[in-house]
Amino acid sequence: MFLKSIEVQGFKSFANKILFEFNDGITGIVGPNGSGKSNVADAVRWVLGEQSARQLRGASMQDVIFAGTQNRKPQGYAYVAITLDNSDHSLPIEYDEVTVSRRVYRSGESEYLLNGTACRLRDINELFYDTGIGKEGYSIIGQGQIDKILSGKPEDRRELFDEAAGIVKFKKRKNIAQKKLENEQQNLVRVTDILSELE
Ligand code: ATP
Repeated sequence: MFLKSIEVQGFKSFANKILFEFNDGITGIVGPNGSGKSNVADAVRWVLGEQSARQLRGASMQDVIFAGTQNRKPQGYAYVAITLDNSDHSLPIEYDEVTVSRRVYRSGESEYLLNGTACRLRDINELFYDTGIGKEGYSIIGQGQIDKILSGKPEDRRELFDEAAGIVKFKKRKNIAQKKLENEQQNLVRVTDILSELE
């Protein structure tokens, strides 16, 4: 699996539609300070479901929408799509190519798409569990993140190893199953109460 392309439109400093295509080997993005290099990484984090404006270096989620310049009007929405080659089927989906996209409007309305079909953020999270790609994954190491990992709490470091070891999806499923079990236990208590009232 590898990243084939990133498409951005109206996202941060990218007012126009721009397509970054990646080939084999290493790609470097170079440019003067403030030209938008980190915004490319932010776009990937955002499309993968980043919900924290702070992580995207903004004050509110609307800050990801192109705010306009002296010569350009602000945009009404931000759009990002990433396409991954999945010919080795490391992502548990039948397609050889997977495109994840996200759009948000100034009104706050937003949507996620998986290969062009509307989906929930949860579907995207589940697709990327244990691949290192999710918004919590280690495929994007931002400035200062290594320091944060090294000086962070052992539990936080553990999450990184869990992801690399491929056990996150099992932990998540366990949590969901435990929640369901708790609900069922509460239902059972209620049923027992009703039964004893009827007796
Ligand atoms: P450095 O080399 O200093 O780290 P960089 O090339 O990584 O810089 P970024 O931090 O990616 O640059 O981009 C910062 C630029 O993006 C700033 O000029 C900022 O004005 C612009 N920018 C951020 N959000 C928006 C927005 N919503 N609308 C328009 N421009 C934006």
